[in-house]
Order: sequence, then structure tokens, then C-alpha cells
Amino acid sequence: MITVPVLNYAVTNTTLSELLRTVPNSLAEPKFHTLITLNPQIIMAAEKDPSIAKLLHASILIPDSIGILWAAKEKLTQIPGVELTETLLKSSLNCYLIGSQPTVLTKLLTQIQAPVIGSHHGYFNDDELTKIIQDIQTKKPDIILVALGVPKQEHVLIQLSKSLTYGIGIGVGGSFDIISGTKKRAPAWVITCNLEWLYRGLSEPKRIKTWGYLLQFIGRVIKNG
Ligand code: UDP
Repeated sequence: MITVPVLNYAVTNTTLSELLRTVPNSLAEPKFHTLITLNPQIIMAAEKDPSIAKLLHASILIPDSIGILWAAKEKLTQIPGVELTETLLKSSLNCYLIGSQPTVLTKLLTQIQAPVIGSHHGYFNDDELTKIIQDIQTKKPDIILVALGVPKQEHVLIQLSKSLTYGIGIGVGGSFDIISGTKKRAPAWVITCNLEWLYRGLSEPKRIKTWGYLLQFIGRVIKNG
């Protein structure tokens, strides 16, 4: 797949349907793959944490947000993580879900068409994570959706990479909240105007802290030329 540089990361330029066509090949390899739905907050987390930077360099990076499109040297096609998640949850791929509040996960599980062979809500300690990883090793899901927010989901993906030799792990942020209907995505016209980030900040004021990351990211891109 073609990649486009964003800062020092190689972001894949593809469409959702092309990306899904690569899944069988990835699953045929004796390797655990990681896919990151990239946004400025993840890049800024990688600036502070070399283990996240290493994860990004070893992963397929998909542009989730408008900030990544803006920073790219060439035109990139946006693939929102929530749309990728929604599509995978309608597929015939075996899925394992990690993340969100217990009530959100329970609600989501009643709505999924894909075979879900395991799940755990997103509030667990290190011992429980060890048990979750053992469960995944036994069940061998094709897709592991990790919806814990940044940087927790990246750290779980790093742990999964150390333990698994099959499947695709994907960090999907707050997707479970939206797909379960617990939170609303922005109206279509807001998404079309590339203002989803503004809508989310205004409808959920605690998210405004992510605008700080956005400003740092903009500064970083400008400095890099
Ligand atoms: N979350 C979780 N465990 C935690 C912290 C967060 O499962 O320890 C979940 C939270 O319930 C929410 C998601 O992670 O479903 C984070 O969503 P957010 O909107 O912050 O992520 P973004 O889409 O911005 O990456």
C-alpha cells in the first residue's frame, strides 16, 4: 500500500474497502499486526513515549482525523476509526473487543453481527490484562478492537504484540461509545465541513484538553516545514 509522510511516520493512503481487502493476506501471515487510527494526540503521545513511537513505526497507520490530512505532504484519504470499527463489526471476521464502560460494552454486544469470540470492558488492572491476553491466545481472534483511548490502548497493543503471533489489533478510541449509541457522532454536515473535532469538543468539554495536543501538533508540523 502507498504511504505518505506525516512528520516522520509513514501513513497509509488507501480506502476503507481496499484496506479490508488486505485483511486476508495479513491473517495468512504468522505474525500479529497492529493498525493505528492515527490522530494528532497519538503522535504527540509518541513524542513523549519512545515505546509508542516504536509501535507507530511497526504499525499500519490510517489517517483517522483531519489534522493528519492537513499535516500530510500529499493528499490522503481519511478513514475514521469509527467507520472501520463499524464495518468490521458487520463482517464475518472473528472479533475480540476490549474497552469502554461495562454498560456500554454490554449494549454494544447486543448489536453486533460479526462473531464476537471474547470481550472485556476497559477498566482492568495489570493482572486482569494478563488474563485477557491468555484468553486471546486461546481463542485466536482475527481482529482485536482496543477501545481504551490514548495512550492506554497503545500500551495494550504493545503488550499484545509481545504475546501474539496471529491476528490484527486495532486501536479504536471512543468508537464503542458511538456505535452502541451511548454517544452521538457529529451530524453529517459537520463531518463534511471537517469540523467533527470542534463538535466533539463543544459537546464534551473535557475533550477540549485534546485541543492542546492539536496546537502542539500544529507547532511541530510548522517547525518541521
Ligand atoms: N476507556 C476505557 N478504559 C480506560 C479509559 C478509557 O475503556 O481506562 C474508554 C472510555 O470508556 C471510552 C474510550 O476509552 O469509551 C475513550 O474514548 P475517547 O473518546 O477519549 O477516545 P478517542 O476517540 O478520543 O481516542
